[in-house]
Amino acid sequence: MLEVDLGAIAGNWRTLRGLHPAGSVAAVLKADAYGLGADRVAPALLAAGCRHFFVAHLEEALALRPVVPGAMLAVLNGLWPSDAPLYAEHGIVPVLGSLAEIAEWTGPALLHVDTGMNRLGLSPAELDRLADEPGLLRGIDLLFVMTHLVSAELPDDPLNATQARRFAGACARLPPAPRSLANSSGIFLGPGFRSDLARPGAALYGINPGLACNPMQDVVRLRARVLQLRDVQAGETVGYDGAWTAARPSRIAVVSVGYADGFPRSPTNQAAACFDGGLVPLVGRVSMDLTTFDVTDAPAVQVGDWLELIGPGMPLDQVAARAGTNGYEILTSLGRRYRRVYRPA
Ligand SMILES: *Cc1c(COP(=O)(O)O)cnc(C)c1O
Repeated sequence: MLEVDLGAIAGNWRTLRGLHPAGSVAAVLKADAYGLGADRVAPALLAAGCRHFFVAHLEEALALRPVVPGAMLAVLNGLWPSDAPLYAEHGIVPVLGSLAEIAEWTGPALLHVDTGMNRLGLSPAELDRLADEPGLLRGIDLLFVMTHLVSAELPDDPLNATQARRFAGACARLPPAPRSLANSSGIFLGPGFRSDLARPGAALYGINPGLACNPMQDVVRLRARVLQLRDVQAGETVGYDGAWTAARPSRIAVVSVGYADGFPRSPTNQAAACFDGGLVPLVGRVSMDLTTFDVTDAPAVQVGDWLELIGPGMPLDQVAARAGTNGYEILTSLGRRYRRVYRPA
């Protein structure tokens, strides 16, 4: 069962807005709001006062357009030439990241300038060209010029300040327009990273923006039910490949979650679940629909009980660390099969 606290998401947005006083704060809803359900998350943020939304794909924007009427809805992954009429027809804003995309568009747009990511956005050479020929932007209503930080969650990385400086330099060469700089972690880098529009995603959903102590509210609680309890003898193995051997007589809880639900199968996954305040370790291979936990030391566990996989007893960032990944990947991998319960804002 996947519980999503829309009130906590709205609260996190308000917290970020408080930390970004001079400018607005958008919400990044790509990948179905990081797996949590953009159709439910977007109205909660709209009601909280958010007026700028970002997704990655045009298809995501088309689905969300009626959900956030009147708000800016922008597509980060750029403009595919044949899609321009769809953007215009539905009032969706492209983020233009190359001279070719600029040439395809008239109307409101964001302009993405690359300041070090080397991924999307105008290259330095393209910026030179645009600075020399500002007429290339004729007919384009620049809502924001934006760039994206490479390592905002590492506050000591000198690249952060370098990118802020390059961004200021780039904006100075372009027609005057509002600016958009920080993602979630960037908001916490301080006043030098404020702009007219911050673009947080992760922090809205409770992912730690990189601080020693996570200032964001928990949003997700994921629990899975114990289907069976089995007692195995020392020397017996559990699950596929016999990947785990009981070193002592053990009680195994067979739990209704698997890699088809986004629970990482990686053999290096050191996952544990929380039961009644204590942790029980994952043992054996994660299967498609089932996972096994050693509950020998948690004798109170009964068939039908719920083990907490993400929540107050097993924070998302710890789940990610144990699986050798980050909270972004854990959330965006959450499967479609969970019963989803949304706590209202
Ligand atoms: C995903 C993304 C964001 C949001 O980043 P978070 O780290 O989740 O806050 C902001 N800007 C761009 C360009 C992105 O691709």
